[in-house]
Amino acid sequence: MSQNKILAFNWKTNPISFAQALGLFKSYKSQFELLENWDQIVFPPFVYLYSLMGIVKRGEINATLGAQDISEFDSGAHTAQVSGPMIADLGCKYVLIGHSETRSEFLTTSFDTAHKIEAALRNQLLPLLCVGFEPQIDGENINFEELKEQIVTAFEPNVEDLNKLDEIIIAYEPTWAIGTGKTPTVKVIEKVIDFVLNTIETNFGKEISQKTRVLYGGSVNETNIAEFAKSDKIAGFLIGGASLDPQKVGNIANSLI
Ligand code: PEP
Repeated sequence: MSQNKILAFNWKTNPISFAQALGLFKSYKSQFELLENWDQIVFPPFVYLYSLMGIVKRGEINATLGAQDISEFDSGAHTAQVSGPMIADLGCKYVLIGHSETRSEFLTTSFDTAHKIEAALRNQLLPLLCVGFEPQIDGENINFEELKEQIVTAFEPNVEDLNKLDEIIIAYEPTWAIGTGKTPTVKVIEKVIDFVLNTIETNFGKEISQKTRVLYGGSVNETNIAEFAKSDKIAGFLIGGASLDPQKVGNIANSLI
């Protein structure tokens, strides 16, 4: 298992032109070169993947690309869906599964995330499962039941195949922290990570829990990342908004050197 930490960027539905996407992606080059002990993954919109993959394949930037979602179907009459074989054929390594925005806007359920994980694994793609929970009154109240349901439902039908992987990645993203500027404390994040790993160990065994890495996502930016990065339990970050600003990415990289 790689000891590197993970810096993952989720562009969501941004930027709105290919020229901007290209400029943004290329702006990462010098920043990513600074980060020796980190693996960089970028999740652009589907339409930019093919062209950005060309840059990666030519070795012009040290990054891996992933897709923001995956259809549970490999092919057929499923209008608007992008399938595992298509994503794998591009050369992507990862797929985001169960991001809170797909859970709320496309009504992706935990049951759906199980099918999507199955589709990813069937196509040799590594799933990055996002889990989180509904708004809390303050950052200290953790909805353990919802977290457990999201993990167990997604993993249960896939345990045999997950067992064969070298690494399993989960991103803990409390919905109240995404894009809001609010974050839980490091203490709360660590408590959740312990819970996630214990849940996996209890339900699926030590071998799977030992190779699970838990990232944190939700309003991570250039001012707070250094504090989060001090924690050995946080295996990396999934960053949305700040990843769209080259200056912020530069400051993030500098904080992680
Ligand atoms: C995300 O989209 O996964 C995310 C964490 O967004 P933001 O960093 O903008 O909160």
